Amino acid sequence: MLTNLQQQPADALLALIKLHNNDPRADKIDLGVGVYRTDSGATPVFACIKAAEKKLLETQDSKAYLGPEGDMGFVHALMPFVFGKNDPTLGGRIDGMQTPGGTGAVRLALALAKRAGIKRLWMGTPSWPNHAQIVADLGLELQGFKHSSKGGTVDMDSLRFAIEQAGEGDAILLHGCCHNPLGIDYSNAQWDEIAGLLKAKGLLPIIDLAYQGLGHGMEEDAYGLRRVLAEVPEALIAYSCDKNFGLYRDRVGAVYVMMESADQVQAALSNGHALARAAWSMPPDHGAAAVRLVLEDEALVALWLGELDEMRDRMRQVRGRLAAAGTAGTVDMIPFGSQNGLFSIVPLTPEQVLAMREKHGVYMAGTGRINVAGLTMGNIDKFVAAVADVTAA
Ligand code: PMP
Repeated sequence: MLTNLQQQPADALLALIKLHNNDPRADKIDLGVGVYRTDSGATPVFACIKAAEKKLLETQDSKAYLGPEGDMGFVHALMPFVFGKNDPTLGGRIDGMQTPGGTGAVRLALALAKRAGIKRLWMGTPSWPNHAQIVADLGLELQGFKHSSKGGTVDMDSLRFAIEQAGEGDAILLHGCCHNPLGIDYSNAQWDEIAGLLKAKGLLPIIDLAYQGLGHGMEEDAYGLRRVLAEVPEALIAYSCDKNFGLYRDRVGAVYVMMESADQVQAALSNGHALARAAWSMPPDHGAAAVRLVLEDEALVALWLGELDEMRDRMRQVRGRLAAAGTAGTVDMIPFGSQNGLFSIVPLTPEQVLAMREKHGVYMAGTGRINVAGLTMGNIDKFVAAVADVTAA
């Protein structure tokens, strides 16, 4: 029976890590998987998390089961940062539960949408590849629209057309900030328009916020999410703390449900609990507990926000250098400087991506996506020269 299980292709990005690790060249550059790196190429544990983990070690007196909702102290402590300090629950209309990472949050948000009767999901492409995998695994119908146009800006016409074509009762998945893989985000004015269009059409927004604080700042990066929530009656929000707390392997995320009235929220969430119970039972505790301890301590919050500022500043510096590189070839055609977060796409052919790897030791996804944080002041010139080389006619 089990021989019915056919060999599946390895995840391309995870395979790239192996190839990179096996490359003996000392000046190889890893622009593959999306983790933040310092200018010396490290992905260190945040100081605020180290401090919180120390506290956790000293004070945690039990590891008994929590429940499918996870650490609700964590879920609630995060809310003022996500939804705004003034009224983080929107009058009790929002509540959530902890999930294993942002992936668990996306999975649960889409599974909840399906349980609620949603059959069709609209999504800009390209997107984080796992979005389409999860949609397919859940048996939802996927309708794509173009996220950006050739000049590297948002394709609002395509989005408007998609919303026009969508049926009432469809869902639409939007990246809250720092679009993966394009780095191209909606402006505030565009979010204003989107919020109105979604409200008018009665679509269910599912907003994936996996990089809050890595674009322009915690408040700035929440603009679109908050703007949409202010307009629509219902929404699902998938949140990851894995990038903005550097907790990748600890798998820290949350899914939030916003309903029209406060008395509906717990019924919806009870479905999330049932789905979680049947999938992973309950989320891993450690990372979320550490985030909670950070968020409950003013000094640690200040330390965390400072660490986020530093990350953001470095990525802006790299983006500025790329934008100013002015090489022949492709690099200077990308508005790197106005893009946000960890990713941008360099429009290389698969052959050019291969040449980047084989000839120059530069590892990037087959789509041409680069993790901007993999570039440093020490290797950026090599990267720019490599792009110029592989794109030279
Ligand atoms: N959404 C998007 C858009 C992402 O890029 C990612 C991570 N690559 C996630 C969700 C999930 O993040 P994680 O599961 O690592 O928290």
